[in-house]
Amino acid sequence: MVLNGSSKVADAQSGKVSADLIIAGGTIVTMDNTRRIIENGAIAVSHGRIVAVGPKAEIQKGYFARETVDATGRILIPGLVNGHTHIPMTLFRGLADDLDLQEWLTKYIFPAEAKNVTEEFVRAGTRLGLAEMIRGGTTTYCDMYYFEDAIAEETSKAGVRGVLGETVIDFPVADNKTNAEAMAYVEKFVKRWQGDELIVPAIAPHAPYTVSEEHLKAVRAFSDRTGAPIVTHISETKREVDDSIKAKKLSPVDYLDGIGFLNERVIAAHVVWPSAAEIDTLKRLKVGVVHNPQSNMKLAAGVAPVPKMLSAGVRVGLGTDGAASNNDLNMWEEMDTAAKLHKVFSGDPKVLSALEAFEMATIRGAQALHLDREIGSIEVGKRADIAVIERDDLHQIPLYNIYSDLVYATKAADVLTVVINGKIVMRDRKLLTLDEAAIKDSARVFREKVMKSLEATPPK
Ligand SMILES: [Zn+2]
Repeated sequence: MVLNGSSKVADAQSGKVSADLIIAGGTIVTMDNTRRIIENGAIAVSHGRIVAVGPKAEIQKGYFARETVDATGRILIPGLVNGHTHIPMTLFRGLADDLDLQEWLTKYIFPAEAKNVTEEFVRAGTRLGLAEMIRGGTTTYCDMYYFEDAIAEETSKAGVRGVLGETVIDFPVADNKTNAEAMAYVEKFVKRWQGDELIVPAIAPHAPYTVSEEHLKAVRAFSDRTGAPIVTHISETKREVDDSIKAKKLSPVDYLDGIGFLNERVIAAHVVWPSAAEIDTLKRLKVGVVHNPQSNMKLAAGVAPVPKMLSAGVRVGLGTDGAASNNDLNMWEEMDTAAKLHKVFSGDPKVLSALEAFEMATIRGAQALHLDREIGSIEVGKRADIAVIERDDLHQIPLYNIYSDLVYATKAADVLTVVINGKIVMRDRKLLTLDEAAIKDSARVFREKVMKSLEATPPK
């Protein structure tokens, strides 16, 4: 057992230290440096942080708590990290499928967004996405959208952790019509949320092909001044690379490196088409990369060289991308898909293991978001972001290897209880911070509005 000195408020009678919450029993998959697994373990939590992890008997001898979760017979994992999404796009789920990225974006998504995205739309879509993510054991997500301040409010109210990036893009969008407006919005947004326990405000230039060099440099200068992370898309499609070479004589990572844009605060989604030299650049500059296998498959964007990036030491996490290109926010499917996609693509079943896939959804995901000092593993001192997984359903029996069970067999519906920042946000499958019925009703109302808006001028 490891004790955290700051919380040694011993009870006079029992000699035990007071904690806010104890989760006891079950197998703890810590994802610490040694990948320690503790059978019949327990976790004590105080002030949102893990203060002790160890065998249940030891923790119970040393701590008492007002609130307890019995995890006997279950699996305790660090909360999953969804490294890339556009959360309000849950309201566009299934709107347009089976298209390539350019056609999907320009004919369907951008027009649907232009006609429908308001602050209320964003709030409703965010609540839907948050509920779906909590139900699947995701405790941290990284977002890029419009009205990100409203997304931050909803996320904070639901008690979920987020790296939330306000979009900067070179055409008028729902919340900001000009670059000057967007930069002013981001300034206020970052100031408001910086230092929050759950929300990390970020700036999100959409992509190197939708934001000019001048504006990208201004984003980097903003990030240097404020310390805010930069969330962006890089090298998603072959066409993006070809166009970049045509227009700038450089592929996207080389171009961004050339203008001094990349550093250890950048979180880059996709990176499907980097060259070997570009992979070295990403490693050298400590850029976080987020792999979105299901979105890349669905839009036929290609297969990111994840095994190469992992062996080069790049910080690689895992994400779902927006629900319009996936079509869910389920990190269990994403882990399973990542492990299998790279096997079939390389012809080598050893190329990406279940453990590596699980790492990308937890500790490596935290590294990709540059948050690994705070989250991504169950260790003393880290934020108490923990999911309790049921392991009693038919598809989980019998069990030989815990990572195999988690990646290849466990479903989002097996997530039983979720703790974020020491607070229980779902207990025994019941959401405690969000109203599930109201969320569904409001999503259905928005569906009617979206359908009507597209009937008026059907996509060309
Ligand atoms: Zn995206």
